[in-house]
Amino acid sequence: MAKADKASRQRARWVRWIVLGIVLAGTTVIVTAHQTGSGSGRLASVDFLCPFGGLETLYSLLIGDGFLKHTAASSVILLAGMLVMALIYRRSFCGTICPLGTLQGIFGAAGRKLLRRRFAVPLSVDRVARYLKYVVLAVFAVWTWQAAELVLRPYDPWVAWAHLTSGDLLTTYLVGFIVLLVALAGSLLYDRFFCKYLCPAGALLALFSRFSVLGIRRDASTCIDCGRCDKACMMNVNVATSHVVTSAECISCNECVNACPVKGALTVQAPARKRFSALASTAVVAAVLVAIVGGATLAGDFQWRQPGLAEAKAQSGSAGGSAFDTSLVKGNTTLQEIADATGIPAEELTAAFGVPAGELGKPISEIKDAYGFTPEDVRAWLETRLQQ
Ligand code: SF4
Ligand code: SF4
Repeated sequence: MAKADKASRQRARWVRWIVLGIVLAGTTVIVTAHQTGSGSGRLASVDFLCPFGGLETLYSLLIGDGFLKHTAASSVILLAGMLVMALIYRRSFCGTICPLGTLQGIFGAAGRKLLRRRFAVPLSVDRVARYLKYVVLAVFAVWTWQAAELVLRPYDPWVAWAHLTSGDLLTTYLVGFIVLLVALAGSLLYDRFFCKYLCPAGALLALFSRFSVLGIRRDASTCIDCGRCDKACMMNVNVATSHVVTSAECISCNECVNACPVKGALTVQAPARKRFSALASTAVVAAVLVAIVGGATLAGDFQWRQPGLAEAKAQSGSAGGSAFDTSLVKGNTTLQEIADATGIPAEELTAAFGVPAGELGKPISEIKDAYGFTPEDVRAWLETRLQQ
């Protein structure tokens, strides 16, 4: 038996974890900076960097109502990137890019170290429960399209992660935070708990993965039936007896390929039997992301920063009505921005909230205690004032 090259398998593993780590760290820094920043020009919110938001806003775009509130072109660009990845290498977004998947992977590794074993949901329950994510996808897609807003937001664990430093975590994002805790605690015992049973993005990718160019193929003539591929698979896919891995649950992480001790027994292949190394397939997926996001950034179409209130007002206006949407006013909005976006004279705002003119450019969250008002007070005041 020709042995697989240990060093190259190790390299492939490292490269995947490095890509996962960069995406998780990068997005966490940006979305946390968004929470702590203020005014227009601060870094983008979690919604701008979420491909699922692209799906949620798609219907609104198709019927000519513009972007749903909280979404932007960057959400749709990321959705397109995620689907291109699925057409190239199945659910490789889940295995190589998704930061929520990475968090579960980290907790999974911690669980393995602490408990020295993995648990498995009984097969009869597991089989049925895996369909739950398709139900979540269908329910939230239809609900979002009907309500014309991001109805999933309060229940989304990734949105909760982005609001860990926010004062709204235990109110607006409480359900999402609980789902996040369940997903991470569940991953201590069961690999990729949320991905397997609940993630609507994973369900969407599973549907697209059927049309993928690359796939994992087992060569039965060289396979020694050691079962290491099955043991390495965090999605519990049956690799050891398949000729081609066709399961919609496969997240193209290549862990099975990297675990295989026989050279050429388990490989990533294109239809013409052209083989790719695990490292090359990971590199292709990462390159797709860099090319799509980089190209859109160079073209000026990717929102790395938050638009000012006036720009957000224009966007929400195109999504359904021309009135100023007071919910755009947050703790990090400034009174000056409100004056600019609504046309209300700055003097009227300073008089209404007892704020000196010199404090107009500071975020509401910074001055609210000193002058005794909250963002809710500002929103309520605006509701009344704008009706006059
Ligand atoms: S299933 Fe969902 S959470 Fe899991 S990796 Fe895929 S997109 Fe991320
Ligand atoms: S079958 Fe292989 S590539 Fe697919 S999820 Fe399992 S270990 Fe990863």
